[in-house]
Amino acid sequence: MTSAHFSLSPPRFCPNCGGHLSERLLETEDRPRLVCDQCDRILYLNPRVVAGVIIERGGRLLLLRRAIEPRRGTWTFPAGYMEIDETAEEAAVRETEEEVGLKVKAGPLVGVYSRPAPESPGILTVVFQGQRPTGRAKAGHEALEARWFAPDDIPWDDLSFPTTHSALRDWLRARRDTRRRSQRAARLRPPRRAG
Ligand SMILES: [Zn+2]
Repeated sequence: MTSAHFSLSPPRFCPNCGGHLSERLLETEDRPRLVCDQCDRILYLNPRVVAGVIIERGGRLLLLRRAIEPRRGTWTFPAGYMEIDETAEEAAVRETEEEVGLKVKAGPLVGVYSRPAPESPGILTVVFQGQRPTGRAKAGHEALEARWFAPDDIPWDDLSFPTTHSALRDWLRARRDTRRRSQRAARLRPPRRAG
């Protein structure tokens, strides 16, 4: 997790030439855009992408308490902004090692969650199941603590973001469905013969 987050005040200067940006309504665009007065390039404002994992070990899942704003002191799973040269899986794995010191594999997708502007900073969060964790969980410099929670003990009233809530809800639902399916499969399996 990087501490920088998108500011809702729009950029004023062109990243291409440094010229001044003005909001203009162009014929080719369906909404006003920031356009450079000097080189005429359009600066598109798009969401930033966050990737994270929900890790389970011994029936408990790992949450960390944020040491940085926004939402310092609240609980979330390891996640952070993707670098430009990473896949979502690579970002999720890297952030997990930085934040809680665990090596994981980014497994099946839990879900994709949007926090559009202007109510939120304009973020898309991609959440994977964190599989085969190795190492001992410890809080990195952006976490106050890292702790394993039984599903019944998830601090629902003290989670960091609405997306944290949605991802944990979806993860629990998928976990329950997987358990039901494997119980059903066990019942259908013919009993083993003795000897
Ligand atoms: Zn320019």
